[in-house]
Amino acid sequence: MDTSGLQGYSGTTKELLERENVRIGDEIEVISNGKRYRGILMARYELSDPNYITLKLHNGYNIGIRVTKGVRVFKISAGVKPAFVRPPKPQILSDLPSVIIVSTGGTIASRVEYRTGAVRPALNADDLLAIVPELAGIARIDTEILYNVWSENIQVQHWIGMAEAVDRLIRKNVDGVVLTHGTDTMGYTAAALSFALQKPPVPVVLVGAQRSSDRPSSDATTNLIAAVATAAKAPFGEVVVAMHKWHSDDVIALHRGTRVVKLHTSSRDAFHSVNSRPIAYYQHGELRVIADDLNPRGSNEYICKPKFDARAFLIKFFPSMKPDILNILADIGIKGFVIEGTGLGHVSSNWVPVIKELTEIGVFVGMTSQCKFGRVNMNVYDSGRDLLRAGVVPLDDMLAEVALVKLMWILGNFGDRAELEDIKELMLMNVAGEIRSRTLPNVGG
Ligand code: ASP
Repeated sequence: MDTSGLQGYSGTTKELLERENVRIGDEIEVISNGKRYRGILMARYELSDPNYITLKLHNGYNIGIRVTKGVRVFKISAGVKPAFVRPPKPQILSDLPSVIIVSTGGTIASRVEYRTGAVRPALNADDLLAIVPELAGIARIDTEILYNVWSENIQVQHWIGMAEAVDRLIRKNVDGVVLTHGTDTMGYTAAALSFALQKPPVPVVLVGAQRSSDRPSSDATTNLIAAVATAAKAPFGEVVVAMHKWHSDDVIALHRGTRVVKLHTSSRDAFHSVNSRPIAYYQHGELRVIADDLNPRGSNEYICKPKFDARAFLIKFFPSMKPDILNILADIGIKGFVIEGTGLGHVSSNWVPVIKELTEIGVFVGMTSQCKFGRVNMNVYDSGRDLLRAGVVPLDDMLAEVALVKLMWILGNFGDRAELEDIKELMLMNVAGEIRSRTLPNVGG
């Protein structure tokens, strides 16, 4: 998140504003081509033309002023800082289960400052607790700020940090952990934590929001309440994602961490389970568990393997794509590939010799499908059989991005010792519900 106070400004425009010690929300005067403009400096979209300053004039209109050589900027007065005042924390009831909310960033932890248009990372887990006092009736909440990032900035180091943080909390005997997270890559993190924290003794619940908590349509509160209730009361120890089941606020779905994808850019019901149903629903204060293959709360089979190695690559095949990309990537150190092939698991035949060369020197190549639902089956067509002969490993019904995360996890924890055969075996072994040998057709939720 941009904490410079000049969100959306870059290059010489940002330098000009910094020289005058101007921040978003300040009242400024801009002189351009002999004309004077007075108003409040507004935030801009990161991708908008960098050569403009946006001002909110006193009449309420916004104008863009092109920054050319002669443009001068003067600060008139500093803006009033955002007026968010955290309500007092509710009273904590001592006989409730203990839940820790770990905040990592994302929309659920931000709010829009309407006067200037800036999205501010203003809400940490403590603020969330204060503005959602219902939480205090569900669990003894404690909060921790681990990161404050948009989830598109998450790296494997963050997954390692999150896994280690949750492991530390599990060892402190908390009853459940909630991680607030940006929605864009929450599915990847859910998969990463599912592999890193196997059969945890308590629920580990990731939760996000499609709309920030200051908007009337926000899903932050309902998602967070369901997440905390699941962490506090669920009879299972699983890594799950808690998000709206549909548009209305009444049902929150709990998705298995290795089966969940974000399928909509903005809708509140963006998250769905693929090739599997959600494992539970939270509705009107009740948790209804529907899956019957869950690791029970309190199980003592917990294993923490929190390392990841990012030298794995996910390739989406498209018509006319050349196979040279595989060699280029292998040359810069990529140790394994997950291909998102067409249909039942295909790429064009000119890829076969290149893949064969790579698998012969120990590079892993696995196949998933661009079709979200179903499984790969590379025995149906000769193109699939040729790829099998070249050493491609069909990854059944695993989601492509989950297979990528799993490969990074295998390389991180077993990479130095593992031979290609070991990697293949681990990729096909069910670690956290990510792969199943038989799939119900088109099951989703
Ligand atoms: N881009 C944001 C993120 O993933 C969106 C969100 O938080 O929902 O962090």
